[in-house]
Amino acid sequence: METRILTCIGCPLGCALTAVPAAEGYDISGYTCKRGLEYAKKELTRPARTVTSTVRVTGGVANVTSVRTATDVPKDAIWAVMAAINALEVAAPIAIGDVLCEDIAGTGVALTATKTVKVK
Ligand code: SF4
Repeated sequence: METRILTCIGCPLGCALTAVPAAEGYDISGYTCKRGLEYAKKELTRPARTVTSTVRVTGGVANVTSVRTATDVPKDAIWAVMAAINALEVAAPIAIGDVLCEDIAGTGVALTATKTVKVK
C-alpha cells in the first residue's frame, strides 16, 4: 500500500485528504468533518458513486427524463450502468421518483426518474 491523496466530494469545500498506510488500513487526515473520514474509508475500500444521466422517453412532452441511481453503484460498474441507461427507453407519463429499472446493469440498484414527463 502507498500513501493516497484524495479530495473529499462531500461538499464544495473539497478537503484534501491524506491516507497513509498503517498497521490496520490507513491513517487518514485532512478532513474537516466526519463525512470526509467516511468518504476516505469508503473510497479506499469500496469506491462507489451515484450515477446521474438521462433516459429516452416516447410519447411525452419531452424526449428525455433525467435519472439517477437510487444509491451508489460500484465505481467499476459505472460504464456498464451508463450503457444500460443509454439502451433504456420508457413511455410517458413519467413522474419524479418512478423506478425505471429495478436492477440497473446487474448492480442490484434501482434507477429512478428525477423529472416528470407528461403525455404529449
Ligand atoms: S471533509 Fe467535510 S467539510 Fe471537508 S469536503 Fe468533506 S464534507 Fe466538506
